Formats: sequence, structure tokens, C-alpha cells
Amino acid sequence: MKLENLQIKGQRILMRVDFNVPLDSSNAVTDDTRISETLPTIRFLLENGGRLILMSHLGRPEKKLKEDGSLDREKFTMHHTIAALSKLLGQDVKFVDDTIGLKVETAVNNLKDGEVLMLENTRFYKEETKGDEAFAKSLASLADIYVNDAFGAAHREHASTATVAKFFPAEKKAFGFLMRLELESSSKLLNNPQKPYVAILGGAKVSDKILLLEKLVDIVDTLIIGGGMAYTLLKAKGAKIGNSLVEEDKLDVAKDFLAKAAAKGVAVLLPDDSIVADKFDNAANTQLLSSFEIPDGWMGLDIGPKATAIFRAAILSAKSILWNGPMGVFEMSSFSKGTQAIAEAVAEATANGAFSLVGGGDSVAALHKSGKADEVSHVSTGGGATLEYLQGNILPGVVAIES
Ligand code: AMP
Repeated sequence: MKLENLQIKGQRILMRVDFNVPLDSSNAVTDDTRISETLPTIRFLLENGGRLILMSHLGRPEKKLKEDGSLDREKFTMHHTIAALSKLLGQDVKFVDDTIGLKVETAVNNLKDGEVLMLENTRFYKEETKGDEAFAKSLASLADIYVNDAFGAAHREHASTATVAKFFPAEKKAFGFLMRLELESSSKLLNNPQKPYVAILGGAKVSDKILLLEKLVDIVDTLIIGGGMAYTLLKAKGAKIGNSLVEEDKLDVAKDFLAKAAAKGVAVLLPDDSIVADKFDNAANTQLLSSFEIPDGWMGLDIGPKATAIFRAAILSAKSILWNGPMGVFEMSSFSKGTQAIAEAVAEATANGAFSLVGGGDSVAALHKSGKADEVSHVSTGGGATLEYLQGNILPGVVAIES
């Protein structure tokens, strides 16, 4: 069911959000992007008289137990997010320090139309990550309607992201606006993307991106590969890469991938030149060299001007663009130029009519740093979920609403 078609007034709405936000040492939220992105859905439900029950996970409490083996409730409580949400929303947010059970039921029964209650961290129950039916049923019993706006957690088959939806009929469950926008944007690149389709991949490791590469090679016209991962591919082509980042155990995978791309007629653009450094340091000595002739003791930390120009031309020819992963160590100013230039090229192509999606943790950070985040078609904050969706994988959180 579409969110706009739900009967909301006076209804108890259980909404899964992704408030897995970074906190500082005093447990204040340092980046509220994930909270602010879901505000349109929260506001819509409250303005239409819903009684809103929010649930989320925060961190990995099940993996970071205290020395005595108990949960670190003080560190991982959802209470840390209440102040940021109340401020953004401009209204009080109630909190209950449990996720299911009598205390929670009482708090829900006390909710009035237009009020919002935050439940405790879903991962305080080990049943959450197991997708446990009984736990999900207890969650479902709290509400009349289920809404999922946690795209960042949609690739997990957990109780609050997937199993819970089973207990609501189709006309009582919906995607939130954020989740819908993420799905619509990603599917523009999955289903009949406008051609030419150019994908830009960067970041540290081939091993993290190989599944995406294997999928993309079936649908894109050009693959641009920069960042640390490029050096494993360059080495697979016989380049001398000095001390650049390399995954020796992925050289065969890289060779197979390059052969597959060639057989399919997909152009794989690797950086012809690199800014190389004598240490992994912003203040390192640097020189500009061919990426095929990097001496020992030197490592490629950014793409060079020739590579930048070739990548830029390919990007400007595209009608569809996916960008995941920086072109170099963008966190250090000495090695951020390549990533900056790619951000500018993607923005320019978008202004010329291309559809562009930037997704995956570090590329989003790099895009924000470049000041071009408002000039691309869609910035996906889904991280792992975005990449899995673009690989053509079924997301349990999505299927659960659709079925
Ligand atoms: P990922 O999370 O896989 O997208 O990787 C992002 C990280 O890759 C960033 O922290 C970058 O600093 C790092 N990175 C990018 N290019 C290189 C490179 N040439 N050598 C080492 N690390 C790199």
C-alpha cells in the first residue's frame, strides 16, 4: 500500500527507522543525516493524526558486550537519539526503555494522536538479528500499521526490518518516503538505464567491490576504476605498482574480471597516471608517474591529471552514472584532487541531463567534501543496502512490504 493511501488517524503505527547514528564521547549525535532524512515520513504520519512508535538499532550491542558479558545499555541506548530527533521535529519525543512487553504496551496505550514514542534498541534482544518470529509478533502486536523507512537496514533479514511485516496485511504496511525514493532512484540504474551508462568505482579494496563489478559489467558501457582497488587490477595487467595497495590473493579474480569485461565489450578505464607518495602521509614527498611504472618505495594515492581528463570525458558522455568509492585518499588534501575533479564532472554531466546516483559510505562523504552533493540526481545513504540492491540482490526489507 502507498503511504498516502493508508488510514492513519488514531492508528498506532510501528515504524522502522535507521537511527544508527554516530555519537561523540558524551553520547551526543555528531551527524543527524539519518534522522533528518526520515523526517518527511515522520511528519506526514504525525500531521495525519497517527500515534507513532519508532524502532531502530544503534551500533552492535550484541558484539560489544561488557566485560561481565552483559549488554552495555548505557552506551547503546536509543535514548541518545531523542534530543536530536525532538529538536529536528520541534516536538517532544517520548521514550520507553524496552522494545516489547508490558511496559512498552502501557506507553503505547498512553500515546495520543500526533504523538511519538521511541522504543529501546531492537538489538538488545538477540532475537532481532535472528529474524525471530515470536519477537517480531510481539513487536507487531503493538500497532495497527507497519511502515519501513530504514533503507540502510533493508538488506538485513531481521525481526524489525523484515519478519515483523508478515503480521500485517498488505493494506496495513507501506514504505516510508525515504525508502521509496531510494528504491526508485536505484531502480533507474537497474532496469533499462539510459545509455551510455558509466559506473565509477573506487575505494580501497577489490574484494569489497568484486560482486558489484561482476554485476555492473553486464549492464554498463564503461567502468571507471580508481582508488586503491585500481592497483590490484593494474598489477593483474602486468603493471609495476611499487608499494601501492594490492590484494595479491585477488589477482586471479581481477584477471578473470578484466577478461570478462573485454569479452562483453565493456571499456574498463584504469588510471594511466598516479600521484605517488613515499609514505601514507599528507606531508609525504610526491611525484607524478605512469601507473604502470611505480618504483618500489612509492605508492599511488591519487589518480593523475591524464587519468582525470580521460575519466572526465567518459563521465561527460554518460546518460546514467553510478559513483561508489573515492579516486584516492581524499581525506588527505594532497591526494583529494582526483576525487574532487570526478565530483565536478559528475555534477556537470548531471547539469547536462544525465541521471547520477552516488552511493556507499565514503563516496557520500567525499561528495559532501567536494561541495557538489546538491548537484547530483540522488545521494544514497543506504551504504551496504544500496550496493546489494544495485548488485541485483533481493532485499528482505523490501520484499517483506511488497509481499
Ligand atoms: P571504501 O570504503 O572501500 O570505499 O574505501 C574508501 C577508502 O579508500 C578511503 O578511506 C580512501 O582513503 C581509501 N583509498 C582510496 N584510494 C586509495 C589508495 N590509492 N591507496 C590507499 N587507500 C586508498
